Amino acid sequence: MIEIKEIQCKNALSRSGIYGIDYSINPYIGCEHNCCYCFARYMKKFSHSKKEWGEFVIVKKNIFDVFREEIKKVKSGSILISSVTDAYQPIEEKYEITRKILEEFTKYENFQINILTKSKLVIRDLDIIKKIKNIEIGFSFSVLSEDIKKIIEPHSSEIKERLKALKILKENKINTYAMLAPILPILTENDLEKLLECLKDDEVSYILVDKLNIKAGNWHSIKESLAKINERLVKDYENILFSQKGEYFIKIKKKIEEICDNLRLPCYFCY
Ligand code: SF4
Repeated sequence: MIEIKEIQCKNALSRSGIYGIDYSINPYIGCEHNCCYCFARYMKKFSHSKKEWGEFVIVKKNIFDVFREEIKKVKSGSILISSVTDAYQPIEEKYEITRKILEEFTKYENFQINILTKSKLVIRDLDIIKKIKNIEIGFSFSVLSEDIKKIIEPHSSEIKERLKALKILKENKINTYAMLAPILPILTENDLEKLLECLKDDEVSYILVDKLNIKAGNWHSIKESLAKINERLVKDYENILFSQKGEYFIKIKKKIEEICDNLRLPCYFCY
């Protein structure tokens, strides 16, 4: 059972340290998608919740009103929705905060909007998205297998639903990209070629690739998920992540580059 709390926030837009992004906006604290590898779990300290990451969502009830005032004052730039939560997690269906924020952006032409999600709910807002001049929407993927997805990202949209959403966006002439991240050793590699082919078929403009980051207090939950898939994976990961010096990620980088070259799919790496 997800714990939902509502709070009042003082700020909506945050200066971003992400390359190419000037500001980010996060309508929620916490994320129901509950990905085992989530690096945003450090946000739990701002929640004052006793629940585990993935089991609570704090709704910034007034964020739209705060945002509407702030956006009038900030310089033009790129804005990421969202960086430490998923703005289209299930609770958004009820609160529609992300929808209202996007609606406001239809009045501005001096911002580049970037949405990154794992939810098909973004399609609900297609009517508004089509009215925003400068917008790009990305979906992230780590695996192609729905069975593994259910274990590692239990409450996100199915892989096939994300691929379908990308197709719908493209058909509606919205710029799309895919984030192949995080690369989960062995698991991402299993269906790598097929996954990249699907993304090519959906005509994403490019893919962004990042490796697994285990410095975010997420190793325990990753380990639990791996054990559910196959006990042996825990040992394999310990070897790859703690004994090797990043060789695995260098090797897979080359493999991804080769496949993307063959598919003529532009790819960029965050590492
Ligand atoms: S969708 Fe993103 S923010 Fe939400 S749990 Fe997964 S990785 Fe974390």
